[in-house]
Amino acid sequence: MTIYDLHCHSTASDGLLSPRDLVLRASEKGVEVLALTDHDELSGQAEAGEAAAESGLRLINGVEISVTWGNVTLHIVGLNVDPLDPVLLHGLTRNRGGRTERARRIGEELARMGIAGAFEGASALAENKELISRTHFARFLIERGIARNMKSVFKKFLIKGKPGYVSHEWASLEDAVNWIHAAGGVAVLAHPGRYQIGSEKMRLLLSEFKHLGGVGIEVVTGSHTPDQVPVYADLAVEFDLMASIGSDFHAPGEGGRELGRLTALPERCRPIWQAWN
Ligand code: AMP
Ligand code: MN
Ligand code: MN
Ligand code: MN
Repeated sequence: MTIYDLHCHSTASDGLLSPRDLVLRASEKGVEVLALTDHDELSGQAEAGEAAAESGLRLINGVEISVTWGNVTLHIVGLNVDPLDPVLLHGLTRNRGGRTERARRIGEELARMGIAGAFEGASALAENKELISRTHFARFLIERGIARNMKSVFKKFLIKGKPGYVSHEWASLEDAVNWIHAAGGVAVLAHPGRYQIGSEKMRLLLSEFKHLGGVGIEVVTGSHTPDQVPVYADLAVEFDLMASIGSDFHAPGEGGRELGRLTALPERCRPIWQAWN
């Protein structure tokens, strides 16, 4: 059975490994088909592709697009996209555009709580200066000893109602799906179990997503607990959506899921790679 991992991050967004080191690590961990899915960014794909050719792993070009749906932030993964497609590139540039101003505001919010220099600190930790994410702020807060680890920092800071949260308007769901389609890819709803919405709203989301042309949802992901897997497998079947699988790996030793360390998709699921194989 081929080992797939279709969601992870490099230094082109908020991961800690270069695209090259990420691919080599995935290969060491036994991953045979890997999708690099940096947030709103494709600049890591070329280097990842070179490393994949050297290591014999198959790279699927991917991206994770930040979306605002009503008052909810969603992540839409595009898989098997053309990383040079102008429509997708233009859309991602637009989505990245607001990040620096947002990061300044996050810094101001934290300063109000007595935490100085957070914008500068997070920015220094971001290799891609167009892509300062909350992860970089989290790492800054941990470095400063203000929080112990990733898990605790995202309980006390950077989320709705806590210090360092600012609301932000990302791309629409329709735009994100259309950009992915323009680039020849398939759109997948990332880690559905992470959104703070009830089952009725989740069903509304899935039907709207499908109506817009979305074809899959992540069923097995580093963001799901073991008991969430069958819940989203059932929803995939009910909505006739394909199922994806990905670690959402960001860095060694930060507490997230390791590359390739994933259970198999439930039998009743149609795997997303049937969409391009
Ligand atoms: P941003 O795109 O700037 O809003 O940052 C989102 C990123 O923050 C996610 O992709 C994760 O890498 C990280 N993140 C958000 N919530 C958590 C959490 N509870 N635990 C760990 N990382 C998180
Ligand atoms: Mn991330
Ligand atoms: Mn995500
Ligand atoms: Mn991710």
